[in-house]
Amino acid sequence: MIELLKDLISIKSDTLAGANEALQYCSEWLTKHSITHEVLENKGKLMLEARIGSGDSTIIWNGHVDVVPGNEEQFIPRLEGDKLYGRGAADMKAGVAAMMEAFRRISEDPTSLSHCILLHIVTDEETGGMDTSGYLVEQGRTGDFVICGEPTHLELSIQSKGMVDLDINFHGKAAHGSRPWQGVNAIEMAYDFHEKMQQLPFTKANNEFYESPSINLAKISAGNRYNVVPDCCEVSYDIRFVPGQDPEEIVKELTELATSLHSKNELEIYGISPAVTTERSSEYVQTLAKITADVRETEPTIFGQHGAADTRYYAETGAGAIEFGPSGEDWHGPEEFVYVSSALQFVEILVRQATT
Ligand SMILES: [Zn+2]
Repeated sequence: MIELLKDLISIKSDTLAGANEALQYCSEWLTKHSITHEVLENKGKLMLEARIGSGDSTIIWNGHVDVVPGNEEQFIPRLEGDKLYGRGAADMKAGVAAMMEAFRRISEDPTSLSHCILLHIVTDEETGGMDTSGYLVEQGRTGDFVICGEPTHLELSIQSKGMVDLDINFHGKAAHGSRPWQGVNAIEMAYDFHEKMQQLPFTKANNEFYESPSINLAKISAGNRYNVVPDCCEVSYDIRFVPGQDPEEIVKELTELATSLHSKNELEIYGISPAVTTERSSEYVQTLAKITADVRETEPTIFGQHGAADTRYYAETGAGAIEFGPSGEDWHGPEEFVYVSSALQFVEILVRQATT
């Protein structure tokens, strides 16, 4: 498996062409090991699905081979003790290699399987995941429980916040800068809004994993002269909400506040993405936690991520979806590496869950 992982790291998959090349490599590797699979394409992006086993329950192993940009040297894998350095080593070619190796192992004796196992390898997670994982789900290729093999130090991330991105246009009234009382300053209105929104009911939500939603004032554009009271101001927010919250309700509260400040203020939604709401009590989570504790000889932590991964596409269909994968450090950074031993443990855990 380490050779497979090194080969994957050497493919410079920080571009669409590179990610497709890495996907082709995975496809050839599966073929070499007599594993039947389908390669699909959407908007020029490749992805693959392999399927094995039968039964009422389907577990999906999802991994992405695209990586964020890195230096040339990062695409030359370097093994130092248990640490394998390279772009994508942790995020998440180790996860992908482990899933492929686990799939190879269960293919040797499919009669031992307790579930139907699908392997999904995709190429656009780092740019949103819409065109490959999103596409697979759209095509009905989903299941009951999904593991996205992102680097989580073999801890179980069972939830992630949802996202509402929106723009608000504040309308004031222009006036000469020497007589501001004759105008309505749109920047000050946006400022007022920003203060008041922190008190809205939606900001009080929490659960066992999250203290509150988060609000990022991401963009602001307004004003162009010293001697003019600005009559418009556009601000953009990235709001991450707690699983269980209704994004429509958040939008409603914000709209009401904006229009209470000026009837012409308007709010436009840029995008909404659902939260991942897998429950701790899920049978799959419980079994996986038990197996992981056994393999690692220590109880895994169950937690919630702040950011989102491809889990969100599967979660939309009601599937349990978690991020769970090997241990490493500095992903997206210059010294990214993965602990090879944790990738090997990950293989063991996957195989055991498939056969339990
Ligand atoms: Zn990732």
